[in-house]
Amino acid sequence: MVRRAASRLGLIGTSATLAIKMEADRLRRSGRDVIDFGPGEPDLETPSAAKRAAIAAIEDNRTHYTSAAGIAELRTALAERYTLESGREVSPDEVMVGSGGKPLLFATMMSLVNPGDDVLIVSPYWVSFPEQVRLAGGRPIFAEMSSEGGFSICAARIKEALTPATRMIIVNSPANPTGGILPAAEAEALVDLVVEHDLWLISDETYESFVYDPADVASLLAHRDRLADRLVMVSAFSKTWAMTGWRVGYAIASAEVIRWLLKIQSHDTTQAASISQYAALGALENYDQDYLDSALDEYRERRRMICEGLNAIDGVSCALPRGAFYAFPDVRALLDRLGLQTSQDLARTLISEIFVATVPGEAFGAPGYLRFSYATSRSRIEEGLDRLHRLAS
Ligand code: GLU
Repeated sequence: MVRRAASRLGLIGTSATLAIKMEADRLRRSGRDVIDFGPGEPDLETPSAAKRAAIAAIEDNRTHYTSAAGIAELRTALAERYTLESGREVSPDEVMVGSGGKPLLFATMMSLVNPGDDVLIVSPYWVSFPEQVRLAGGRPIFAEMSSEGGFSICAARIKEALTPATRMIIVNSPANPTGGILPAAEAEALVDLVVEHDLWLISDETYESFVYDPADVASLLAHRDRLADRLVMVSAFSKTWAMTGWRVGYAIASAEVIRWLLKIQSHDTTQAASISQYAALGALENYDQDYLDSALDEYRERRRMICEGLNAIDGVSCALPRGAFYAFPDVRALLDRLGLQTSQDLARTLISEIFVATVPGEAFGAPGYLRFSYATSRSRIEEGLDRLHRLAS
């Protein structure tokens, strides 16, 4: 018998963000000094309240199964926080905790997408959206946002890209990889569209704490009244509280949709790790606004450094991201100058020749662009920019 993978694996590629991380780790292990602009992972420390809560959970033997939807205290704390922030009532049975935003998004696709459905994804997009849609049997379709508008999400462009088979729209604001946001006026227009066409709206708000001008952005949770049960909002502790490795995310949706997601999770990961859930609760209960403010100030300064440094390279043009911690420059003129064909070629050159890890735009549906995560220290950003300048001069 020929051993071969199931045919569904042929539908998807490996996550480019994680592949870059593995390559950077491999080079580091072989002694290379890698500047890592690759995966989006805060270099800040997990808040000590979260660490202490996790240690207490271990010592108190709270190390067994929890409720599959998450410990009641955490669901309640999240419900209270989002009620406060959105001004709309969120009840604990409308909250579900899982092992990171990614598996919750996957459970969402598995619960809501039928084979043959078109799922509209705002592009450039995070690598895993289309792949998760494909694995659920759907067909990803894309609405391209314009780089001139800083990749701001534009409802009219989404409307133009709708097909008769579209059942769902996925938005991500602030966006990975562009730092684009959903402006308040566009959120209104998007909600109109979703209601008018009776669609699911999936809002990935993982980067909600990283908005450089908060007046700019609207959480879609504030529109719950009009969206009713059409909205699934997903977020995580990973980026906000520098807790990527703990794997804790959450979904907020109608109680019925939460039960559907839970059905998938109950056959998959069961729950987020108990210790991680207590750590997350520790972060929420000791909500440290100073930690978040100083993280945002730090990212703002890094954003300035990296955008100035990139724009100073002949052939690179980088708009100022309005959220998240990614710079997403247009490198097409640089490719021409260096005699390279694609941003994939450029990313390969950067990692193999100057040990600078980046993610090529192709992974996000945007050939000709390159993603730099600036969730790395200022001195590493400086060193990385120096190496780039030398290579490009
Ligand atoms: N979301 C982060 C990124 O885009 C982490 C890796 C991943 O899950 O894709 O780099």
